[in-house]
Amino acid sequence: MKELFKLSYSKIKEGLGKGDFSSVDLVNSYYDRIDESQPKIKAFLETNREKATNQAKISDERRRSGKTISEFDGIPVATKDNICVSGEITSCCSKILENFRSPYDATVISRLKDKGFVFLPRTNMDEFAMGSSTENSAFQTTTNPFDTTRIPGGSSGGSAAAVSAGMVPIALGSDTGGSIRQPASLCGIWGLKPTYGRISRYGLVAYASSLDQIGPFSNDIQGVVDLFSVLNGRDEKDQTTVTGKSFSSTNVKPKSWKGVKVGVMPTNKASDWSPSVLKKYEDMKKNLEKEGAILKELDFSVFSYSIPIYYLIATAECSSNLSRFDGIRYGLRVEGSSGKLEDLYVESRSKGFGDEVKRRILLGTFSLSSGYYDAYYGKAQKARVMIRKQYDSFFKEVDVILQPTSPTTAFKIGEKTKDPIQMYLADVLTTSVNLAGVPAISCPAGIDENGLPIGMQLTTSHFEEESLLSFASSLAQLPDTTITLPSKIQ
Ligand code: GLN
Repeated sequence: MKELFKLSYSKIKEGLGKGDFSSVDLVNSYYDRIDESQPKIKAFLETNREKATNQAKISDERRRSGKTISEFDGIPVATKDNICVSGEITSCCSKILENFRSPYDATVISRLKDKGFVFLPRTNMDEFAMGSSTENSAFQTTTNPFDTTRIPGGSSGGSAAAVSAGMVPIALGSDTGGSIRQPASLCGIWGLKPTYGRISRYGLVAYASSLDQIGPFSNDIQGVVDLFSVLNGRDEKDQTTVTGKSFSSTNVKPKSWKGVKVGVMPTNKASDWSPSVLKKYEDMKKNLEKEGAILKELDFSVFSYSIPIYYLIATAECSSNLSRFDGIRYGLRVEGSSGKLEDLYVESRSKGFGDEVKRRILLGTFSLSSGYYDAYYGKAQKARVMIRKQYDSFFKEVDVILQPTSPTTAFKIGEKTKDPIQMYLADVLTTSVNLAGVPAISCPAGIDENGLPIGMQLTTSHFEEESLLSFASSLAQLPDTTITLPSKIQ
């Protein structure tokens, strides 16, 4: 029973179903692993073994008495610290919300509870999901399980590292510009950013509302499929969720690549990619052709604007969303010495927010201010439409697009913290997906010569998750894509 943490999500689900082990056995195995790895990985913000064990006991009791709620009953899951769980702290890894307890469950949490999942503690993240390395957390820096001198990616780095290190089989993250896909790629696991409007954002602390989506991480594709099938669908509490778009996990199957039109990027402009990422991409294209896929080189020139467009829109929306943290309504309150209300606002926000969050509030406030609105925010909105139209025209020509998820493998801790622009460029291949609202998944694609994981991103048209996930399972059958997760954390 000792090494259950090494099992894939599918094996866990199967073993629980057949009664090979109990939910308590699983939770024990994950917590033994957490005890051993957490000091190095720092994926979790707390480790509440007792709470998780109690939930597992209740689940086991249901199974024993024939009252299992669902096929997922008793499976452990972890959630990012920006998703509200009733009665628990939801801090977004910010000092301003350090002691804030959620009064309600996010819709994704109630959907998981309804199916009997067991909750492991909240995971570390960049403050308010702003970052690409998890170094912007106000509390701790998570490390990459493949090499603990490197970052796990961000902003959902805690969730990705927890799954990669075998501390939990599946987890939730949020993705505004790449925060599920990029850490999934750098940690050697699967991570899905669903179509905008597929999964409720009710109870997700907003960063940039027109871009944010919650999505799953897993150590195998089935975990992504199952979590997506549980979480997706209309929610009256989030009016951006859509009706009438069904998803059936039974329709997700690996299919032949024969005749599939795959859109690819010209690699002559890819000078900022690591040579190992470039080589992997070229190899994968060749393997797809061998399998009968028809590769079409697409013109990605408009996408060179996606970083500036994304950072204008995301910062504008965050400056507005974060105005609610004023020292009065939530979290930290610092009374100014003058006793004036304005000083209370200023002191609370100055002490509560970290540098990157402040930088973005300033950028966003500037681009929304009168006199600059049309030149910056207004223009970015127009350019965003261009990106969306480009995807529409791509999907008239191809069934799916293949790109690397990240231009490089995991970089060293501290390597980019002094240069925000370099950090922003980590998202050069992911942000356009959020701007257009299309779904995309990062799939493990093998390791490089230094033993670091490489991930490939597949993108389809809006609401095509069934075919996206089918393509992802087919990709996993190509040669040299399997990544063995680290058994020893060094
Ligand atoms: N790294 C990007 C940013 O800092 C994306 C973050 C995210 O997807 N939450 O905005």
